[in-house]
Amino acid sequence: MNEIYLDYNASAPCDPRVTEAVAKAMTDGFGNASSAHRFGRRQDAAVSDAREQVAELVGGSPSGVIFTAGATEANNLALGGFAAADSETLSRAQSTLVTSAVEHASVGRTAEALAAAGRCHLQIAPVTPGGFVDLEALVSMVQATEGGLLVSVMAANSETGVLNPIAEIANLVHEAGGLFHCDATQMVGRLPFDMTALGCDLVSLSGHKVCGPTGVGALVGTREALATLRPAVWGGGHERGLRSGSLNVAGIVGLGVAAEIAGDEQPTEAERLGALRDRFVAALEGELADVVQNGDVERRLPNTANLRFSGADADAVLVNMDPVAASAGSACSTGAIEPSPVLTAMGLSRDAAFESVRFSLGRFTTAAEIEVAAREVVTAVRYVRLMTSEVA
Ligand code: PMP
Repeated sequence: MNEIYLDYNASAPCDPRVTEAVAKAMTDGFGNASSAHRFGRRQDAAVSDAREQVAELVGGSPSGVIFTAGATEANNLALGGFAAADSETLSRAQSTLVTSAVEHASVGRTAEALAAAGRCHLQIAPVTPGGFVDLEALVSMVQATEGGLLVSVMAANSETGVLNPIAEIANLVHEAGGLFHCDATQMVGRLPFDMTALGCDLVSLSGHKVCGPTGVGALVGTREALATLRPAVWGGGHERGLRSGSLNVAGIVGLGVAAEIAGDEQPTEAERLGALRDRFVAALEGELADVVQNGDVERRLPNTANLRFSGADADAVLVNMDPVAASAGSACSTGAIEPSPVLTAMGLSRDAAFESVRFSLGRFTTAAEIEVAAREVVTAVRYVRLMTSEVA
């Protein structure tokens, strides 16, 4: 049987059109993008095109695009850059960082590390059973702050696909005089996202979630927000002085092309993938008892379904449905034998979280694959349930 990849939220395959652009950039272009000679200028022009393509995808300004090595680094720059800036400029009232309980580890752990180092007060907003940030809790947290305030809340959750009310959050943060950072890694390219219309000050994104290269991403900010940050990487002063290091031109070109394709194809892809995802879930629900969808099913990414198969351990299901690939918990946390912190924060028990599998579809997922995958998952869940009941 052919391999079937349903783990796009962990990492999407690189689009051949992007691969071609990266190969061309690596073959035809060389020289340092900072050099004044024609070789350097050509590299710089390629980077400028990519800035426009990335800015266009998120509704930001090309001059506000800071290229990084991915969303992890972009998130570190936003949070760390804010906390460093604030501790230097404010003597008495310490800054406050507010995040949510379901952020990616590159926000959650960074925030914890900054708080542990005494660089900020940390407040973590809970989420509702549907997986949305609890707005009432968020309001009371942001209103109680003195001094600098940065709020970091993700646009779409990687595990459930649940979409937060970003415009509403940005508005309440601004009313409290703070800056709003949004980790939009999972949302950009999948649904319309316009940081200017939404009111985001800083936005993180990543190449490999939009069928681009891994190891390249960006923090996109308004001029005012970027001016408040301190560098994450010190050196020759590249990227507005915030992220030094000779630019990864080929990767950046790839991110730019990937952003353009993702933006162009987003409306049709959202519709196609939503229909495929719904057909997949319906097929499983039709064949299996006790299938529960985790997270709000109305306001979520069209490509994602997080399903609990009661009585079947998710890791055992994943092993038995191979070569169909999906994931249990977030890929970035596998290795740890803890249940998904996202699902437990939503109120699921440890057992329920351990029985939950995330399926995420993408550009190269076909209807035929979905049919085969559904059959394989049904067989795997039945088998695991049977084995579990025999052992019990
Ligand atoms: N934020 C979110 C919401 C993510 O899903 C991921 C990737 N799992 C990241 C940040 C980190 O992105 P990268 O792999 O580019 O470091």
